[in-house]
Amino acid sequence: MTTSSNPTFPPRSILFLSTEVYPYAKTGGLADVSSALPQALRELGHDVRAMMPKYGFIGEKKQKIHLINRLQGIEYTVGGREIVTNLKSSAILTQRTRIQMYLLESEEYFQRLGMYVDPETGTDYPDNDERFLVYALSAFELCRRLLWKPDIIHCNDWQCGLVTALLKGPFKDDPLFKDTKTVFTIHNLAYQGNFPASTFEKLGLPESFFTPEGLEFFGQVSYLKAGIAYADAITTVSPTYAHEIRTPEYGCGMEGILAKRKRDIHGILNGIDPIVWNPQQDINIVRPFSVDKLADKEECKKDLCFAMGIPYTEGTPVLGMIARLTDQKGFDLLAEIVDKILESEAQLVILGEGEKKYVELFTRLQKKYPKQIGIHLGFHDNLAHKIEAGSDIFLMPSAYEPCGLNQMYSMHYGTVPVVRKTGGLADTVIDVEDATQRTHPTGFTFEKYEARAFWRAIERALRTYRKEKTLWHQMQVTGMKRDFSWDRSAVEYAQLYEKLLLPTVPSAGPERKLEEHPAV
Ligand code: ADP
Repeated sequence: MTTSSNPTFPPRSILFLSTEVYPYAKTGGLADVSSALPQALRELGHDVRAMMPKYGFIGEKKQKIHLINRLQGIEYTVGGREIVTNLKSSAILTQRTRIQMYLLESEEYFQRLGMYVDPETGTDYPDNDERFLVYALSAFELCRRLLWKPDIIHCNDWQCGLVTALLKGPFKDDPLFKDTKTVFTIHNLAYQGNFPASTFEKLGLPESFFTPEGLEFFGQVSYLKAGIAYADAITTVSPTYAHEIRTPEYGCGMEGILAKRKRDIHGILNGIDPIVWNPQQDINIVRPFSVDKLADKEECKKDLCFAMGIPYTEGTPVLGMIARLTDQKGFDLLAEIVDKILESEAQLVILGEGEKKYVELFTRLQKKYPKQIGIHLGFHDNLAHKIEAGSDIFLMPSAYEPCGLNQMYSMHYGTVPVVRKTGGLADTVIDVEDATQRTHPTGFTFEKYEARAFWRAIERALRTYRKEKTLWHQMQVTGMKRDFSWDRSAVEYAQLYEKLLLPTVPSAGPERKLEEHPAV
């Protein structure tokens, strides 16, 4: 484990911006990353502070989150209206470190139950442009009021994209931000924060920013494109995704500007939180286990079957899946082959919330096969841990996957993943057929996005589970022993920050690593 006295990096002030941070708010992997990465950077000796919106559900009693008032009555004019905001202070405290959190309170914009989508209508809030404009402006106001000079503002996804443009526009002459550099991390290129051209008038940016070289995206204002165009460096969450996003197939229309910024794009693989996702000390599972006590995983499987309302039978493989119910996650492939899975006498457990078509499909299937399929529709953190621990096989047939955390959680919990070879899945799972003397297998992969290929990979997994017990055990152990910690990736981010802040300093030790993972 790296320590806070690591001499490699001068301590830097880093404002980490993310609109979801675990345990305050979470819709997906971004929240996990936005909690664990700041902690890992803090352990490298940096002064990392994070800021996110205070949504309506944050601070409710059951959440056990402590908030205190920090800055009151900060006013903005948005779209001709006066709005008043507050900033609250809180902290992520673990046995390893402490992260200072600031939460932006706004009756007008954030005191709601949804984060980006209105739960009542299932559609994006119509004022998301204003909501995340105020969030971006608050980042600057926070620093000004605290007289805190950030060396780096690390922005995540479209919700934070405007910050990079504002820094190059209205805030460029502010002495506090004179030397500040921005990093923009793309966790998912498909979510772009695109708004009508009329949004541009609200932003307070010079006209020259509304061009194809800037944040204009086919006549619209794109917050994601702002991040890509104006950040000093761009990162994505795996090396393979960093390549993929520059192709028309995965580029979501942004491949042009991404190609232009090719030299500034870095693929840095996500890690996993060693405290929250650890089978040896996971408070959500019925029996902690480790490589030396792998037999105890069976107790977790029994508990999972019980929790999902399906019978436990020794030797029957349980296949797990946790994901937002969207096309991205490959549910259409699953729908095509679900009968085959059931005919093979396996059981399937699914946790997810999202698109209606999948909600209806899984509700129907569960009614038809109550003993073989367990479904939980909704967001349930505790159950997610139980599925990682109790399943034998984990399915991720994603159409694209920027990094993916669940396959890493699975391997860490001795649950063998079956994944499509794309993005971070390709970078983290080693198929039996691709294994070498030095790289032992940890899962099963398939390339073509088609149901047949997916089924063949599942079949191979089921056969190995049932007939090749020694290999199966080896795969579990290899996965559990793999180093998925943040330590290495946090160092890569720290190196990148240094490169931005001291571009002329000759390369020292850590710079060599950047060459190993060249900008793509
Ligand atoms: P993405 O960020 O695309 O949603 P990842 O695999 O990177 O996918 O991360 C998903 C994270 O969200 C994991 O921590 C996963 O356990 C969690 N998650 C997704 N859906 C649910 C759900 N319905 N209930 C609980 N946790 C969920």
